[in-house]
Amino acid sequence: MSLIYKFPLKMHVGAACKSIVNTKDTVKRGQCIAIPEGLGAKIHSSVNGIVKEVTGEYILIQADELQSKEYIKIEQCNSIKDICFEAGIVGAGGAGFPTHVKLSAEIPGGTIIANCVECEPVLYHNISLIEQSPELVIKGIKYAMEAVKAENGIIAVKEKNKNAIISLKNALEGYEDITIKELPDIYPMGEERTIIHEIFGKWLEPSQLPLEANCVVLNTETLANIVRAVDEGKPVIDKDITVGGKLANGNKQNVFFQVPIGTPVKEMIAKCEGIDGEYGEVLIGGPYTGVAGDMDNDSVTKTSGGIIVTIPFPRYEDKVALLVCACGANENRLRYIAEKMGSEVVSVLPCKNLEHIKGSNKCKTPGTCPGQAGVVLQFKKAGAKRLIISNCSDCSNTVMNSAPGLGLGVYHHTDHVFRTVDHELTRRL
Ligand code: SF4
Repeated sequence: MSLIYKFPLKMHVGAACKSIVNTKDTVKRGQCIAIPEGLGAKIHSSVNGIVKEVTGEYILIQADELQSKEYIKIEQCNSIKDICFEAGIVGAGGAGFPTHVKLSAEIPGGTIIANCVECEPVLYHNISLIEQSPELVIKGIKYAMEAVKAENGIIAVKEKNKNAIISLKNALEGYEDITIKELPDIYPMGEERTIIHEIFGKWLEPSQLPLEANCVVLNTETLANIVRAVDEGKPVIDKDITVGGKLANGNKQNVFFQVPIGTPVKEMIAKCEGIDGEYGEVLIGGPYTGVAGDMDNDSVTKTSGGIIVTIPFPRYEDKVALLVCACGANENRLRYIAEKMGSEVVSVLPCKNLEHIKGSNKCKTPGTCPGQAGVVLQFKKAGAKRLIISNCSDCSNTVMNSAPGLGLGVYHHTDHVFRTVDHELTRRL
């Protein structure tokens, strides 16, 4: 049976794209189907098929029974930046910032940082890609260096990923201008400003961009997509993704390389033999920043990192307080979890490191705790019996230093995800 592929018109930072196809049009894999109006990135069909529906939010394409790996190549371009625009490349790590905009800068003497941190536990497709094809990352760095006139490249990777580091070291022989920076395994080590702090020893302000440290940060898969576009003329039509959790084929990660964008989430779960009995939610993304998905309507996008099916939420029919982190779950996500648990929310406070910048939450120093004893005391006064927190590793540690002593239980918003996959809970460092 042929599948319906769904292409949201907003898979990037910026405004939704405008469709350039109509219902009943025949489309080919690689064909551009939507263009940006302002900040954004082109969208291409990942399948051969017929357009079934076009709305202001998405395009549905009914795929032909028989598909091919062949695709329509992007137009010839004179610069790497223009190639990235034609190919519709965006930050594949979840942010979705258009890559051609990042590569519009010139940073003579500057640095391309490859964000190979894969900070979200459970997700493993980026590290798998590095283990198997380190040359894609290295070549991507070289192309990015050429685009912005950078002088060197640094690959940021967690020290725990030994095989990936060996693989990179072997592939880097003969490259004098690219080095590896090994980072500790704490959350959110993959946050751009945290990586910059680890490399250059200096914090950027929450409103500052990496350019102010004379660097550009690009994620593993984004770099691979640059190489595919430059060398093969391939637009972003396929996505690497990790599927895990409460699945009939076990609770270990399943890594899928180059899945056609638009593939239904349900289809990816079916590739893992389906859901194993009762479940809590289908999380789209990683344990820290993922959101509850809709199995019947969601599809793989340019920024989907993971699909994780979790165990049911625990019940806690009592008063809770929510502690919001800029780098983990936001207030809406914590309220969703509280509701699923049957809890009554009596207080909500942000971590005092959290700032609102242009409509989004930013942390002053991601991963470095300002101390949480004050908010824990306020929650106690508000009558909370338990805290639901979304903090980084360091802040969760400080919550644990004060909350249990005051008789307050602690639930980290990742708990039901980590229990599903037998991963250590976020508590003390
Ligand atoms: S310091 Fe606060 S806002 Fe920043 S990452 Fe940690 S918990 Fe989140």
